[in-house]
Amino acid sequence: MARVAFIGLGNMGGGMAANLAKKGHDVRAFDLSADALARAKEAGCLPVGTAVDAVEGAEAIVTMLPAGTHVEGVYADAVFGHAPSSAILIDCSTIDVATARRVSEQAVARGLAAVDAPVSGGIGAANAGTLTFMVGGAAEAFDRARPFLADMGKAVIHAGASGAGQAAKMANNMLLGATMIATCEAFKLAERLGLDLQTFYDISSVSSGQSWSMTSYCPVPGVGPDTPADHDYRGGFAAALMLKDLRLAMQAATDAGAQTPIGRHATDLYEAFVADGGGTTDFSGIIRTL
Ligand code: NAD
Repeated sequence: MARVAFIGLGNMGGGMAANLAKKGHDVRAFDLSADALARAKEAGCLPVGTAVDAVEGAEAIVTMLPAGTHVEGVYADAVFGHAPSSAILIDCSTIDVATARRVSEQAVARGLAAVDAPVSGGIGAANAGTLTFMVGGAAEAFDRARPFLADMGKAVIHAGASGAGQAAKMANNMLLGATMIATCEAFKLAERLGLDLQTFYDISSVSSGQSWSMTSYCPVPGVGPDTPADHDYRGGFAAALMLKDLRLAMQAATDAGAQTPIGRHATDLYEAFVADGGGTTDFSGIIRTL
């Protein structure tokens, strides 16, 4: 088992660090929040006072931070110059593709191996160790990161070169945001046309309109599996986080010259929903605006 630095013990990182400790790793955990550090201690990690303390002597350095600026800051202040040259850097945060590529290039220039490894699956999957990781980086770096990621997830997929993990995450979540809104619209239309919503679900879930938003995350209460819709749209994946991912996707599309008109429209609708106070609501709660 290895010594692992884990930086960023929030909603997601807390459970992920706990799973690494459960698998027998010596986890040196750091977060700016004292509460998060106390929870990590209870979960079997060793809380340390600074990010540098966590990084020194680590074989793997995992970061799970809010955005690209935090990752860039932690890498500049604590990782570069303190990480052993044998360490593998694994950033699991959802950040913009450009920053992911930049920090990876900086790492490689210092002789360090690095991957971007954003996750799919929410807090439940982070706690249960059933996340999906989409990984960008050189094949050799991927091979070194894989055993650590496998200890926190159910699937670890090499997406391609550095930044490819973030690219996969952006494209996937843009599709999710768009299909969720389209699914909400379809239910509203069916209702206006006098259809029973359970009947519409039974038909559409085995017809060509079927999607994950329909059959695994149905936005209508009392229809389909148990979802946040059945709990007043609480828990699940906050609309503010969906908006963050959509904004990243729009930035990536602009940078790459890709046309994403439906993604743009989905972003505008989530902008309005969050501006109206829906940010902490599950993202399927956007049905209430239709
Ligand atoms: P969070 O805000 O709960 O946790 C982030 C943690 O980072 C906080 O505890 C904060 O104190 C800490 N932090 C910030 N700056 C720091 C620094 N300089 N040094 C040390 N610690 C620092 O966020 P989260 O929900 O855990 O999400 C983390 C990442 O995972 C985000 O990029 C998010 O988009 C992504 N993600 C979240 C979910 C989800 O359902 N919550 C799902 C998939 C991906």
